[in-house]
Amino acid sequence: MSRSGAPDLPALPPGVVEAVRRALLDHYDRARRDLPWRHESDPYRIWVSEVMLQQTRVETVIPYYRRWLELFPDVEALAEATRDEVLLAWQGLGYYRRAARLHEGARVVRERHAGELPDTYEALRGLPGVGEYTAGAVASIAFGRAVPAVDGNVKRVLARLFDEAAPTAVWLRGVAADLVDPGRPGDWNQALMELGATVCTPRAPVCAACAVAPWCAARRAGTQEERPTRVRHRAVPVASLAVAVVVDDRDRVLLVRRPEGGLLGGLWSFPEAPLDGDGDPGGEVVGGVPTTEASRRAAREAGATLVGGVSPRPLPVVRHRFTHLDARYHPVLLAGRGADHENRRWVPLARREHLALPVAQEKIARAAAAVLDGR
Ligand code: SF4
Repeated sequence: MSRSGAPDLPALPPGVVEAVRRALLDHYDRARRDLPWRHESDPYRIWVSEVMLQQTRVETVIPYYRRWLELFPDVEALAEATRDEVLLAWQGLGYYRRAARLHEGARVVRERHAGELPDTYEALRGLPGVGEYTAGAVASIAFGRAVPAVDGNVKRVLARLFDEAAPTAVWLRGVAADLVDPGRPGDWNQALMELGATVCTPRAPVCAACAVAPWCAARRAGTQEERPTRVRHRAVPVASLAVAVVVDDRDRVLLVRRPEGGLLGGLWSFPEAPLDGDGDPGGEVVGGVPTTEASRRAAREAGATLVGGVSPRPLPVVRHRFTHLDARYHPVLLAGRGADHENRRWVPLARREHLALPVAQEKIARAAAAVLDGR
């Protein structure tokens, strides 16, 4: 297992690589989980599963995956769909940029590849949103290409197998590429991921049940729970936002489409405006700026005309943690009116299900509906 030009890669004695592959693939054949995408050979369907599974648990993905394939059974159907239809099907799965990029990718496959996914790692990498991991997974699983696919689970297993405290991307790529079974690359990559998800878990790995335990350096050294070294995450910044829930005299609320490319791009939300400071549970004054005033400004900037005679009413603060941001939404119920426009709609709260709202906005909508129902 030598790799000229790639320093610091571990070398296993001849014959050991084959023994490791055989042991893990045998285990995979006996114990693999029965997951819907494992019954698929269609590259598009495998691609969808790999995008959905990024940063998301298998149990969460399964119902989304099934529904997605009912709505968009092939590349053509996805390419034909509107952005709203795509985001609605993804609603609740998080990391919405994945859905937008998958949608763009389907259009590129239709236009540049006659509707067929390209069958090499390099060509797959050229599709929107297809990074190293996704290209490796699709190329190996759908097309039998002997390329690695390194996700968080694989990183952990390899770091432990070789007792490497701080594996770099280059190290991981090199080691993973050396280990791929050329006869069953897709199964091999899935077997490694499966081992990380079910046996070689972040805490308390079950070494006694592990197919590769005889060759595991961390197990021998007793360092398995310390590999790879955990990176301490920095505290994420807090962002406080005033949110305008503007209701007209027909009980419709104003929703605006968020700009493409920004946070939650393409989804629909209530107009919002940033507040200074890190939030006030009362929801009335944040960082010296009255929430009501900021929400009124957000409403006006979104095209609403506010009407007097009805007191603004603060709704409960909603918190939502993104990977890079701790957002605190301070919603205020306001009375107003206005007209529909391409990127803004007046929608009865009970009929918002045809527009995709982010999780926090959906909570605000529910709180607003409860207040309006109770009047
Ligand atoms: Fe992970 Fe333990 Fe298996 Fe090593 S022996 S790969 S630490 S489960």
